[in-house]
Amino acid sequence: MDFDSEDLARLTTRVAGPVLVPGDERFAEETATWNRAHPHRPALAVGATCAADVQAAVRFAAEHELPVAVVATGHGAVVPADGAVLINVRRMDVVVVDAKRCTATVGAGTETQSLILEAAEDRLAPLTGSAPTLGVVGFTLAGGVSPVLGRRYGYAADHVHAVEIVTADGRLRRADAGHESDLFWAVRGGGGNFGVVTSLTVSLFPVTGFYGGGLIYSGDHVSEVVAAYRALVADPPEELSVSLALVRLTPGDGLVVHVRTAYAGPAEEGARLLAGLRDAAPALVDEVGQMPFTAATALHADPVAPEAVYELSANLSGFPAEAAEALLTAAGPDAGIPAGLVELRQLGGALAREAGTPRAAGHRDAAFQLLASATGGPGAAERFRPALHRVVDALAPWSAGHQQINFRGGYDVAPRTIAAAYPADTWARLTRIKQAYDPHNMFRVNHNIRPHR
Ligand SMILES: Cc1cc2nc3c(=O)[nH]c(=O)nc-3n(C[C@H](O)[C@H](O)[C@H](O)COP(=O)(O)OP(=O)(O)OC[C@H]3O[C@@H](n4cnc5c(N)ncnc54)[C@H](O)[C@@H]3O)c2cc1C
Repeated sequence: MDFDSEDLARLTTRVAGPVLVPGDERFAEETATWNRAHPHRPALAVGATCAADVQAAVRFAAEHELPVAVVATGHGAVVPADGAVLINVRRMDVVVVDAKRCTATVGAGTETQSLILEAAEDRLAPLTGSAPTLGVVGFTLAGGVSPVLGRRYGYAADHVHAVEIVTADGRLRRADAGHESDLFWAVRGGGGNFGVVTSLTVSLFPVTGFYGGGLIYSGDHVSEVVAAYRALVADPPEELSVSLALVRLTPGDGLVVHVRTAYAGPAEEGARLLAGLRDAAPALVDEVGQMPFTAATALHADPVAPEAVYELSANLSGFPAEAAEALLTAAGPDAGIPAGLVELRQLGGALAREAGTPRAAGHRDAAFQLLASATGGPGAAERFRPALHRVVDALAPWSAGHQQINFRGGYDVAPRTIAAAYPADTWARLTRIKQAYDPHNMFRVNHNIRPHR
């Protein structure tokens, strides 16, 4: 249903932040996303400054039967928001640390590095993603694998204490262990499907640093490095997280191998564990040493400036020698694949266990996560699709049959395929809770869970 200028004027009086339509001077800035691959073209953009702004925007969307898209940073902007009411929550970025309880309460737009810096003041650390400007809420709601502490403590969604959320009826609700138990279960794993989260309370952990850093090798040594990686991840302690990335910076560049290491334990033991990797081949760059936790988001050297990124991923049940051979054939120095990276992250440890209050967890049985990504201009999805598929298909014999929601790029957003990310009984319950809280599927510009009918 359309809206007219009077509707818009009424909304503007109810919202403290900007209310913008296409053609307005700041519309492009308000709707821009970090990932530029799938640009948003909403009907209306609301720059929310508080929960009341979010409520007004959601009520407007409900009155006009429009979908709602939520943007915090746009790292996960993989479903175009065409025709939607886009709620940009980046201004809601307050962080409050409770050092006694070891928790932090973050606003909807809080970025990873802000939370890390605030927590570090009290010698604590959160479970966050690899990039400094990633949104804490989007990362957490869909699971959230920390590349430094995930194997030790589990998914970020395992450690959520409370959520404040505006649901499709425009109500601001609190969901925690004692309130709205179905909603609390569903938002911790179900992503942005149940409403707009205005604040989130998460656990912090007594970690101030780690032993690790990046090792970069020439692509000429990829076989030796992959062999040393396999030896290291065969039986690692849960304090150790190591990922391997085959990186091509620009289309003409050769391959480099980037191994990211993090041991959340004593430096001497970390050095002992990583010795085989360091001896495998001469490193072009060796950054390994004792790091403050505030350096955790430098480990992957993720890009900070916006990019158009296209990605395919798969959870793997293992990475035996045959899989390593398949990876080297599909993505090694002689494979003609575009600029970008092919990355293997080890899962397992606490990521494989149920922890805390039960929640809508995805599958926990995978040992590794494979990600193949390419960077280029917007609209290049079809150009990159065959090359990315070649990589993921080569590892298909070791596929666990599912993916992490957070790493499902624009190729993997069809609602009928989202179910595969969850065990069948989890999926059935998610669709029933969706029906109860969002029967018209207002929150569908995401990895969508359709309401059960
Ligand atoms: C460079 C890079 C590094 C990454 N590293 C990791 C990693 O280490 N581990 C990992 O698990 N994932 C990682 N990811 C994936 C990332 O966690 C997801 O893309 C996540 O959705 C990003 O959230 P965001 O808020 O930054 O992005 P946005 O695009 O702003 O939001 C993505 C989605 O999250 C939901 N959402 C965000 N905020 C809210 C809210 N307040 N209320 C309701 N829904 C909301 C919405 O559905 C929205 O569409 C990475 C992605 C990139 C691009």
